[in-house]
Amino acid sequence: MRKLSDILKQQYGEKVYKISLTSGCTCPNRDGKVGFGGCSFCSEGGSGEFASVAGDINVQIEEAKARIRKKTSADHFIAYFQSFSNTYGDVDTLRKLYEKVVRREDIAILSIGTRPDCLGGDVLEMLRDLNEVKPVWIELGLQTMHDETAERMNRGYPLTVFEDAVNRLKSAGIQVIVHVIFGLPGETREDMLQTIRYLADLSPGPDGIKLQMLNVLKGTELGRQYEEKPFPLLSLEEYTDIVAESIRILPEEMVIHRMTGDGPGDLLIAPDWVRNKKNVLNTINRKIKEKQDAFC
Ligand code: SF4
Repeated sequence: MRKLSDILKQQYGEKVYKISLTSGCTCPNRDGKVGFGGCSFCSEGGSGEFASVAGDINVQIEEAKARIRKKTSADHFIAYFQSFSNTYGDVDTLRKLYEKVVRREDIAILSIGTRPDCLGGDVLEMLRDLNEVKPVWIELGLQTMHDETAERMNRGYPLTVFEDAVNRLKSAGIQVIVHVIFGLPGETREDMLQTIRYLADLSPGPDGIKLQMLNVLKGTELGRQYEEKPFPLLSLEEYTDIVAESIRILPEEMVIHRMTGDGPGDLLIAPDWVRNKKNVLNTINRKIKEKQDAFC
């Protein structure tokens, strides 16, 4: 298994810290361009509760570094734009913003979370240029390969749009990281593993993957539905088993960026077991080992 932290340590000679930043972009699935209300699991923070408040980007970076400085003297950082859709907006403005970021000595990688339907030709051209200065990662929240589930959770685009985006990003030499959520209502274990097999076989496929348990949060459509009538959620055992099986299925070269999420604890309604991240990771690692031993 290729873990992101190991790869970065090898490349940069030290732990590379992620700093969460805000571009000021919104999301077309919230402002009416694609839809209203957003994805049913998405909180008001646009699925990124830890980002800085929007403002001058150099100030944001310095403030984020100052917070991290308490625990590290690292020199390399990943500038992470997670909340909302960070390629949705005026391209000239976005270019100015991201150019400031990649030209900084202390930024090793620019990581941008966005939607596959926010990657027009002008955006691709910008990303290609930025990628010549520093590596650019594009993070796409696919969550599931199943269009039926995607419609139920109001994702706002079909699988074909994702495939086209991955194709164009890979042709432009940009690294692609895909987010997958396990435990979406109505999905079986087999549905979830189908998403993993699909990503494993996709050509050109993503370079990395982030796996996460569905977090039912306050202030979301799913949260409202759950409080009205609780629906079944995966148990710790079920989730960790699906993750371990996914790691077995995914190609060796696919980098594992995340096996469990860092949800906003104060907004979490369920499941409660996700709060104990250490226990989740230990259980996953134990199951990965058991599967390895069984297949040796
Ligand atoms: S695309 Fe992202 S920011 Fe927009 S509603 Fe969905 S999860 Fe939230």
